Amino acid sequence: MKIRYFDNSATTRVKEEVLEEMLPYFKENYGNPSSLYSIGRISKKAIEEARKKVANLINANPNEIYFTGCGSESDNTIIKGIAYANRKRGRHIITSKIEHPAVLHTCQTLERQGFEVTYLPVNHEGLINIEQLRNSIRNDTILISIMFANNEIGTIQPIEHIAKIARMYNIVFHTDSVQACGNIPIDVKKMGIDSLSLSGHKLYAPKGIGALYVRSGVEFEKILDGGHQEKDKRAGTENVAGMVGLGKACELANKNLREHMRHLKELRDYFIEQVTKRIEGAVLNGSIENRLPGNANFSFPSVDGEALLLNLDAKGICASAGSACTSGTSAPSHVLKSIGLSDELAHSSLRVTFGEENIKEDVDFLLENLCEIIDKLRKQL
Ligand SMILES: *Cc1c(COP(=O)(O)O)cnc(C)c1O
Repeated sequence: MKIRYFDNSATTRVKEEVLEEMLPYFKENYGNPSSLYSIGRISKKAIEEARKKVANLINANPNEIYFTGCGSESDNTIIKGIAYANRKRGRHIITSKIEHPAVLHTCQTLERQGFEVTYLPVNHEGLINIEQLRNSIRNDTILISIMFANNEIGTIQPIEHIAKIARMYNIVFHTDSVQACGNIPIDVKKMGIDSLSLSGHKLYAPKGIGALYVRSGVEFEKILDGGHQEKDKRAGTENVAGMVGLGKACELANKNLREHMRHLKELRDYFIEQVTKRIEGAVLNGSIENRLPGNANFSFPSVDGEALLLNLDAKGICASAGSACTSGTSAPSHVLKSIGLSDELAHSSLRVTFGEENIKEDVDFLLENLCEIIDKLRKQL
């Protein structure tokens, strides 16, 4: 059966060019980058080239990029790293209620260690309130961590505005940009971002490689001890092939960003328009204006989200309910709850996230099946 994949916020397929670029680092150039002989030096050089490409995508300097094992590790590294480096100065952190678990659970761990965390609520579109942010700032606030774009509903936060406020109070501003990187333009200098996370497998590079940008001058404690790799901030022999792959993916994302955005937005807008027209009671979750170009998230009253997913799967269609991290558990998504959905509506949600390989014919196939399945499920009630 042909697989039609609409879950690009959960992960993406590795691009052919990315894989090609990686292969030599498994085969001929397998040297340890810390070694002095030629194949070690080749690896070292490849890492630095990759670092430049990652930096270019977000307009950072290469020496501000640290490679990590994943987006989650990037979030852990900077949130814990900033907390531990500043515990004498203050112990208060501000974040939002709709962060990815990589941020939420890290903050909860810090709370158990004596830090205090304010979790900002969001409005029905998933946006934080700037006044509320301002009012939450205290003398001992050391970090503001607000995601760039939400992985479930695609809401894009007013990042420049948040950064400006953080800068005004001399507080470090971190943004989890795993969903935003490669899908919308990011300029850390212009936007005033101090720290940012990104992940390879969300932008057509492999799983198991991520990156963390930290503006030079921002101090943080390392959380992984060992060798002196990554400017002594992340021990462990480098995942050279992964880094090379991430570099290539960032280079391609940078080159194709405008066209990529236009493509995703076209599919998304068509899908949203058709669903709204053809499926009774469909409610679009999130924002219309401030939304990732490839994200659509609907609730369908009187439809069980899990049954919907299973029926779609039977047609070879991959989509997601709430988020990949929460589906499989029966608790309703914390994001959908935070934007005011009832448990029932939260359980009847479907997330469709488009990627570069999707074409309109596939979206039509999805629409046909979605309409049929929802009709069937509602009749079974
Ligand atoms: C996927 C994701 C992460 C985690 O990235 P991994 O590389 O899978 O650890 C963090 N934040 C957001 C917003 C994500 O979508």
